[in-house]
Amino acid sequence: MAVSIHPSVDHGVQPGSPGFSGGKLYCKCPTDKVEVTLTSNTAHNHVCGCTKCWKPAGANFSMVAVVPRDHLSVTAHPEKLKPVDSSAAIVRHACTGCGTHMYGRIENTNHPFYGLDFVHTELSDSGGWSPPEFAAFVSSIIESGFPPSRMDEIRSRLTELSLTPYDCLSPPLMDAIATHVAKQNGKLAA
Ligand SMILES: [Zn+2]
Ligand SMILES: [Zn+2]
Repeated sequence: MAVSIHPSVDHGVQPGSPGFSGGKLYCKCPTDKVEVTLTSNTAHNHVCGCTKCWKPAGANFSMVAVVPRDHLSVTAHPEKLKPVDSSAAIVRHACTGCGTHMYGRIENTNHPFYGLDFVHTELSDSGGWSPPEFAAFVSSIIESGFPPSRMDEIRSRLTELSLTPYDCLSPPLMDAIATHVAKQNGKLAA
């Protein structure tokens, strides 16, 4: 039995559907579920080993993607949502009933990823979402208690799943962050 990454990829990464245009995410409460509606597909889906992203019980990684913030709305039970940490760069809004993070939002307009919300498409009952493409912040699973001696197993499994392991974000996203910073400090033309 291969080491578990996340229930959505442990049996292989499911391909997305071309032209998929969104759907609904639901929290895990048995009734009065918080519902979030996305009116577009997601992008940059990946598994993440950081300690801040919401993970389902027992998972070593979260699975998280982005969507433009104007394509996201809370369409049922917004009163159940509460920010996990209002001072964080990404303010994650969690259900007070079940603890599921329904979306993460960046309020700082100078942040490289301002305008994008972070979501977990495993909370949807429809298929076709953009599939995870890489693994971010892999070493950080140790901070959650994963044995450092088993990291080779994790990295080989991720490679086998074509989820290239990175200990930060993927090179295109790191380049996007650096470009944003360079434009802000005048080293590159805006
Ligand atoms: Zn809930
Ligand atoms: Zn994360």
